[in-house]
Order: sequence, then C-alpha cells, then structure tokens
Amino acid sequence: MAKQSKKDSRPRVVIVGGNFAGLKTALNLPQKFNVTLIDKHPWFEFRPNMHELVSGMKTPAMLRFSSKAIVRRMGHRFLSGTVTQIVPEKKRVITASGKKLLYDYCVVAMGGVANTFGVQGAEKYALPFKSVAQCQSIGQTLKRLSRIKRPFHVVIVGGGIEGIEALGEILRGFRKHDGLRVRIIERAANLLPEAPADIESEIKAHCQPYWVEYFTGVAVKKITPKTVLLSNGRRLKSDATIWTGGVKPNPIISQSGFTNTPDEWAPVQESLQHAVYPTVFFAGDTARVSGIHSKQAYHAIDMGVCAAENIIRLDAGKTVKPFKPSGKPTIVSFGDLDAFVIVGKIVIAGSALNGLKEVVFQMSMTEFDPSGLVMKALHLSNRAGNMSLRKGLPLALSPSAMLKLKNVRLLS
Ligand SMILES: Cc1cc2nc3c(=O)[nH]c(=O)nc-3n(C[C@H](O)[C@H](O)[C@H](O)COP(=O)(O)OP(=O)(O)OC[C@H]3O[C@@H](n4cnc5c(N)ncnc54)[C@H](O)[C@@H]3O)c2cc1C
Repeated sequence: MAKQSKKDSRPRVVIVGGNFAGLKTALNLPQKFNVTLIDKHPWFEFRPNMHELVSGMKTPAMLRFSSKAIVRRMGHRFLSGTVTQIVPEKKRVITASGKKLLYDYCVVAMGGVANTFGVQGAEKYALPFKSVAQCQSIGQTLKRLSRIKRPFHVVIVGGGIEGIEALGEILRGFRKHDGLRVRIIERAANLLPEAPADIESEIKAHCQPYWVEYFTGVAVKKITPKTVLLSNGRRLKSDATIWTGGVKPNPIISQSGFTNTPDEWAPVQESLQHAVYPTVFFAGDTARVSGIHSKQAYHAIDMGVCAAENIIRLDAGKTVKPFKPSGKPTIVSFGDLDAFVIVGKIVIAGSALNGLKEVVFQMSMTEFDPSGLVMKALHLSNRAGNMSLRKGLPLALSPSAMLKLKNVRLLS
C-alpha cells in the first residue's frame, strides 16, 4: 500500500471523495503516483438506483461495495475520514481528526449536499433522499406506517426525477394498501418541468386508480413533524415527508476559497483544473462545467477519467486535454408501472425500458471493479453476460431499437 512518506519521491495525488468521480480518478492513475483517496465512507454507492430501496426492490448490499478494497487492490491508499478544509496555497488537505496531507495534485470530488432552501423545519423533520442509508430509512418508515396506520399520509417535496422515481417506488411497494395517501409538491408549473414531453399526463394516468394528489406551482413554506405548510396557506397532513428538492455545493468549497459564495459550484477550466489553482482539479457534481444542465453520474465518471488523464499529462510536461461532456440518455423509472427514456428532445416510454436502467446499473458496477468481485458478491449476472451487455447497450439505448420493444411508445 502506498503511503505518504518522506522517502517516497512519487508525485502525491490526494483525492477528496470516493464515489463516481473520485473512485474513477483513482482507478485511472498508475502506481507511479502516490495516490491517497479520502472518503467519509469506506464504500461506493450507486445512487441512480437508490429509489428502489423505498419499495424493497433493492437492498443496501446490492448498491454498495467496498471502495477501500478496490483502491487498495490498485496499490493506492484509502483513508477513512472527513475532509474539513483544503488549503490550496499550502497544497494541503486537512481532515476532521487533524490529519494534514500534502499534495502535488488534488482532485476534489465531494459531490453536493442536500439543499433545503432555508425552508423552516426541513432539515429537522423531512426525510432526505440522497444516500443509500437515507433511502433505506424511508423504505423502513413507510413499511412501519403501513403496518400501524390507516390511512397514512406521505408527502414528496419535489416533482423532478428523484421525486417521480420516489412516487413510482411508493406505488410499487405500497399501492395495495388501501390507506396509502400520497401528495407530491413541485414549485414549477408541471411535474418533471425539464422534460421535453408531457410525462406529467402519463404519470397522472398511472396514478388514477390510487390516492395521489398533485400540487404544482406552489412552494413549501414550513415542515412540522405531522404537517407540510404550503406558500398558498394550505396545510397538508404528513406522517412522512420526503425531501427530494435539489443539491447545493459542499460548504467546504467556499470555506477553502475556491468560490466567492457558498452557492457557487467550483469554477473550472476546460481541463477541470480550478480557474485560480491549477494543481487542484474538480470532478463530478462539485464542478461547474459549461454544457452540463443536469448533473448525472455518467458525467462524474467521465470527469474522473479526464482528471486522471490530465494529471498524468501535466506530470509528464504535456498539454492538458479539455473535458467534453457526452450526451447520454436519462432513464426515469416509475416503479413497475412505467419508465421514460429522455434522448435529447425525444421521450420514449414503456415499463420494458426499466430493464435498460438495470443493465446500466450492472454494467457500471462491473466497470468500477474490473476483477468482477463486486458482481460475484452481489450474485448478479456473470461477467460474460455483462461483456455482451456492454457491447450492446449503446445500440439498445438508441431510439429506433427502443421503439422496437413490446409496449413501448413515443411521447414526443
Ligand atoms: C436520488 C438520486 C437519483 C439519481 N439518479 C441518477 C440517474 O438515474 N442517473 C444518473 O446518471 N445520475 C443520477 N443521479 C446523480 C448522480 O448520483 C450524481 O451525479 C453522482 O453521484 C455524482 O458523483 P460524484 O462522485 O460527483 O459525487 P457523489 O456521488 O455525491 O460522491 C461524493 C463523495 O464524496 C464524499 N464526501 C463528501 N464530503 C466529504 C468530506 N467532507 N470528506 C470526505 N469525503 C466526503 C461522499 O462520502 C461521497 O462518497 C442521482 C442522484 C440522486 C441523489
């Protein structure tokens, strides 16, 4: 295992955050670098499928694997810890336990933190939807409520992708319970306001047999343990309030002087180097990159690859390469009722498309662990199967191929 020692003359790379962007950076750096990856958790979490914890379709063990083991297998060092500050002038990373790590290159891949927009009571009483532990806890809460309360009221704050996926899983897991009452609130005029087609009508049609109410064009003003107060004065009953409403930058970014205000994502050059501190790279959700409107895991993965490549190039005295965001489809699942694939201005719908999201999940998991141990541990498909999926996926995600599937329809 590589250690930061005085005798080790290799260039030191400290990676802060080890999920999509950070772990991918580590996987793409050779052992000629002295790499230390620091994360609060010793595991990687596959966030795009976390909503399935709400219904129990997935378990935490299926969505996590030991990033510590993978980093160590690469010959790099994994440090469990919470970074509290980065001092770019001194090229130093400081952890909560007081450790100080010096770097020649630093990659900041800390993602974001939940944004409650200052809504009174949101941090205290709402259930966040941003990690495996949080989504598992939501699933457990709903299970408990469904056993003891009739009716039981659930309020989802946010009608974007996360809110819609949460609603789909609640219906998958609990729609047979005649006491289920769900309300979804969205500040914009429509659910999924950024979608290029009217997905809202499709969602409403699926929910028609069940007790689901929609509040659009209205904001949440206050949350209490048993209610949600709206900006129009309406007070809604709530036994469980799920907060899916947005992310904001980690405050450490502004506290370390990388941005002027806490609301800004880190400004980077095309190479992902910080605009002022070129030995600091930003990758994943934490970076402000032009051309990316909706931050996605595949962007974070591509940025991790780019940051590693540019560190290698910089160290070899070569010119750095620009990061070019790729445009991949966004798959929004709606429990077992439907799925929507957004490809540019086109939306294709059909529950058969849920299988594609599962394929993306399995493929991404193997990509992070080329040894295949992850998939073995998860008891998922074997590697041979996944290799054929890997080759076939781009084709399978093309609109013409998707439209050939049974019961799939074009919405726009
Ligand atoms: C509910 C939900 C659904 C999503 N669905 C999709 C989807 O369907 N498709 C898609 O492409 N994307 C989806 N995303 C977005 C995707 O998950 C993110 O774009 C991706 O996780 C960003 O990766 P990242 O590595 O930049 O940050 P993250 O995945 O957020 O990782 C940040 C890492 O930094 C660590 N960290 C943070 N602070 C510190 C600290 N102070 N010290 C040490 N470590 C720290 C964290 O523990 C974490 O491991 C979804 C996100 C959510 C929340």
